[in-house]
Amino acid sequence: MQMAMSSAVVQRPSVAKAFASKPSSRAVAARRANVVAQAASTQLKRADVPLELEEIGLPMNTFGPKNPFIGKIVSVETITGPKATGETCHIIIQTDKKIPFVEGQSYGVIPPGTKINSKGKEVPHGTRLYSIAATRYGDSFDGMTTSLCVRRAVYWDPEMGKEDPAKKGICSNFLCDAKPGQEITMTGPTGKVLLLPEDPNAVVICVATGTGIAPFRTFWRRMFMENIPGYKFTGAGPLARRRGFRALRGGGGPRLYDEEMAACAAAYPDQFRLDYALSREQQNVRGGKMYIQDKVEEYSDEVFDLLNNGAHIYFCGLKGMMPGILEMLERVATGKGLNYAEWFEGLKHKNQVHVEVY
Ligand SMILES: Cc1cc2nc3c(=O)[nH]c(=O)nc-3n(C[C@H](O)[C@H](O)[C@H](O)COP(=O)(O)OP(=O)(O)OC[C@H]3O[C@@H](n4cnc5c(N)ncnc54)[C@H](O)[C@@H]3O)c2cc1C
Repeated sequence: MQMAMSSAVVQRPSVAKAFASKPSSRAVAARRANVVAQAASTQLKRADVPLELEEIGLPMNTFGPKNPFIGKIVSVETITGPKATGETCHIIIQTDKKIPFVEGQSYGVIPPGTKINSKGKEVPHGTRLYSIAATRYGDSFDGMTTSLCVRRAVYWDPEMGKEDPAKKGICSNFLCDAKPGQEITMTGPTGKVLLLPEDPNAVVICVATGTGIAPFRTFWRRMFMENIPGYKFTGAGPLARRRGFRALRGGGGPRLYDEEMAACAAAYPDQFRLDYALSREQQNVRGGKMYIQDKVEEYSDEVFDLLNNGAHIYFCGLKGMMPGILEMLERVATGKGLNYAEWFEGLKHKNQVHVEVY
C-alpha cells in the first residue's frame, strides 16, 4: 500500500513554479527527480557522496555581514498545494562546497535593498536566519548546492480585509520570488542547538510545525539516503509533525518532503516512524482539534520511555507550538507520578532536549 501511494505521488504533475533552464540547474532537477523516483520505491538506494565534507568539524560564522558569501539561485519550487494557507518554497542555491555546514545549522540571508533605521539613517536590511533543509551534500548529493525551505510572510490587514503588500516580509518574499541565476547574499553557517547526537545509536524524536521540518529533512537524508561509511544510524528517526501548511484536500496532496519521508518509512519501518497532526481534519481524544501536542501525547508512553532511555527530542517551527507541548509534558509527567520540573531539567542537563522556534 505504501508503494502504491508513493508511485501515485510520483506521477502527479509537479507544481514547480520556477525551474532553472540552465544546464547546471537542469542537472540538479534531474538528479532530484531521480531521488523522488527512488523515494517511490521501498528500495531506497543510498547515494554516494564526496566524503571530504565529513572532515569539516563544526563551522561557525565563516561568513558574516561584512564578508558575506554570494550564492546563486538554482531553483525555487512551491511545495505547498494550491489550497494551502500560505505558500512555502523549496529553494536550491549553488554554493560549490564553499560555505560548508553540518546538519541542523542555519544560514543567514541578507535581502537586497535598504531601510531607514530608528535614527533616520539609511542602512542595509538586516540578516534573516533560515534552517538549512539539505545535508552538507545538498539535494544532488555532490555538495555543490544547498537548500532552504521558506514560508512567504504576508500581512493580513483585518481592517482592509485583505493582504497589504506594503507590509509583506522582505526577505522571505525576495527568496520565494527569486529567479534562477539570481545572486543571494548569505552569512553563516550558525547554530548548535539542533545538531544530531554524537551517539549514532541514540533515538531521535523530531516534532515540527511548518518550515520547522527543514532541519529534520537534513536528518533523514543523512540517516537513510546517503552512503556515509563512518556514520551508521541505528536509532529511530522522525516521529511526528504537524503539516498545517500543506493542502490536504481537493488537489493539494503530498509533496516532496512527504514523499521522502514516506519512502524512508517504507524502506526502514523499524527505524523511521512518522505521524501527522492535521488540525483541520483530525480530532484529539477529547473530541477537540488535533494539535501537535495531542499527537505527541498519543505516543506519550513510548516517548517517555525513549527519553528515559537516552533519546533526544527536537522541536522546530513556530514559537507558538511550545506552550502547548510543555503543558502536555507536565500533565503526562505528573500523571506518571514524576516530578516534572526535576525530570525535564534532568533531560536538559543531559542535552536531550533541543528547541529552535521562531
Ligand atoms: C533560527 C531560525 C531559523 C529560521 N528558519 C526559518 C526557515 O527555515 N524557514 C522560514 O520560512 N523562516 C525561518 N525563520 C524565520 C526567518 O528568519 C524570518 O523571520 C522570516 O522569513 C520573516 O522574514 P521577512 O524578512 O520575510 O519578514 P520581515 O520583513 O522581517 O517582517 C516580519 C513580519 O512582519 C510583518 N510586517 C512587515 N511590516 C509590518 C507592519 N508595518 N506592520 C505589521 N507587520 C508588518 C511581515 O509581514 C512579516 O510577517 C527562522 C528564524 C530563526 C530565528
